[in-house]
Amino acid sequence: MSYQVLARKWRPTNFKQMVGQEHVLQALVHALDSQRLHHAYLFTGTRGVGKTTIARILARCLSCDKGITSEPCGQCSACMSIEQGRYVDLIEIDAASRTKVEDMRELLENVQYAPTQGLFKIYLIDEVHMLSGHSFNALLKTLEEPPEHVKFLFATTDPQKLPITILSRCLQFNLKNMTPEKIVSHLKFVLSQEQVQSEEAALWALARGADGSMRDALSLTDQAIAYTQGDLQEAPVSAMLGTVDQKKVYRLLNMLVARDPKALLNVVSDLAEFAPDYAAVLEIIVSVFHRVAVEQAVPGVTDNSQGDQ
Ligand SMILES: [Zn+2]
Repeated sequence: MSYQVLARKWRPTNFKQMVGQEHVLQALVHALDSQRLHHAYLFTGTRGVGKTTIARILARCLSCDKGITSEPCGQCSACMSIEQGRYVDLIEIDAASRTKVEDMRELLENVQYAPTQGLFKIYLIDEVHMLSGHSFNALLKTLEEPPEHVKFLFATTDPQKLPITILSRCLQFNLKNMTPEKIVSHLKFVLSQEQVQSEEAALWALARGADGSMRDALSLTDQAIAYTQGDLQEAPVSAMLGTVDQKKVYRLLNMLVARDPKALLNVVSDLAEFAPDYAAVLEIIVSVFHRVAVEQAVPGVTDNSQGDQ
């Protein structure tokens, strides 16, 4: 079997598998359970935080043979074909590649026709902010008086670029960036399932490198597995990321505290072998001193957001 990248393989197919975004999921589950559905949903947030994943799960919730549910079965033909991207009543559009008004008109001409298989015809428009002004106007007419059987799911990284007239007709959900803690705990889970060895510090380095995006974290992990031949230790992972090995900086600080100049210079020359970005080294030192100072002033307040509690 061919290798499937982690981000795809571990893409959640129901709300329970989602990591983070609890505030959004709770609202959606409640709306689905009480059958209080809006006709247009807008998911915003930076890349790789789950916008289209949530939209696809919501499409399942609306299309599952069980009827409208917050727990789609995952077995019926609707659930299966949505996962495989070939469900007739889920029309996915990448607005970045179809910005022209003709595209939008053609699309919206079919809005009036009833769904073929499910209860709803669902339009999932990714990067919706990329549509042209004319396309927005065409869309707006439908949003003003949507047929009962139509649901719009929009996703964008850039909601400021949406016309206010569109925004005001959508139920908007702002997705948060993933915290390093959430990323590390998810990576631990995925790697244990994949039976890949890893050192915790390496996972924190990957989480910091992912900068709030779970998809990036999983892509970097794919890279790291290839780079380290399946044994994720901090030093090679940091080398791959081009980041500074935090453990070395801590050793350096320990030698400083111990007033041991000889040992300190040894650590420095050890560090120098990796030709690090010294500005980044200084940044880590400053950040550690800052966190130590805060902890000294208010004991117990330091969180584990850097993995060094
Ligand atoms: Zn189903």
